[in-house]
Amino acid sequence: LFIMRLDKFVCKSTEFTKAEAIRCIHSGEVSVNDQTIIDEATQVHENNTVLLHGKPLTARPFRYLLMNKPAGTVCSNIDEVYPSLFRYLDIENVSELHIAGRLDADTTGLVLITDDGRWSFGITQPTRHCPKVYNVTLSRALSATQADDIAKQFRHGIALQGEAKLTRPAILDIISDKQVRLTITEGKFHQVKRMFAVVGNRVVALHREKIGDVRLDVDSGQWRYLTQDEIRSFL
Ligand code: URA
Repeated sequence: LFIMRLDKFVCKSTEFTKAEAIRCIHSGEVSVNDQTIIDEATQVHENNTVLLHGKPLTARPFRYLLMNKPAGTVCSNIDEVYPSLFRYLDIENVSELHIAGRLDADTTGLVLITDDGRWSFGITQPTRHCPKVYNVTLSRALSATQADDIAKQFRHGIALQGEAKLTRPAILDIISDKQVRLTITEGKFHQVKRMFAVVGNRVVALHREKIGDVRLDVDSGQWRYLTQDEIRSFL
């Protein structure tokens, strides 16, 4: 059952931009349950009857997808210094979508994309402690002793530059002397790079493999819709 703002509902049931939707709400062209509504922030429920010029509107269903983000793209709806990863999405109404948990321009791998703000909040909300798994390539090789020591520090939590609280317990798995897998349950700005900086190393490549139960299984620049089970796993 969905609840959303009236302007969003009008956008999701027409080809209107947000500004156009607001304009037709303000000019009294939209009714909810037979009452003209001119406040675009009014919440509408799935079972409300919304009419535009007397004709019923039906919102398009929410979309949920994953993408394997290529390096040199930004997790933004518009091109910045690097192009937006949305240019890889060959579907309609891409401007309605947003990313649930952004990656740095040089980071690759799993991003979740949706137009359902409540769902993405369930993933990015700090109190949810949703696990994210990263494959990390380091500039300096780790000896077995160093790896043990860093794993212990990360398990305990470490002080990042400029942060009052320690990081939450993170799990470090060693793949080879310069390759590790790190599982974190929060998403502070540049967190993985900053964690390795604290222990005197540097991340040279970073790739997200998994968020919650959703594992990346498409090639770089490719995407797919999530399954019902994957969508439900974040509720
Ligand atoms: N940690 C980082 O440092 N960068 C990312 O893109 C994701 C996690």
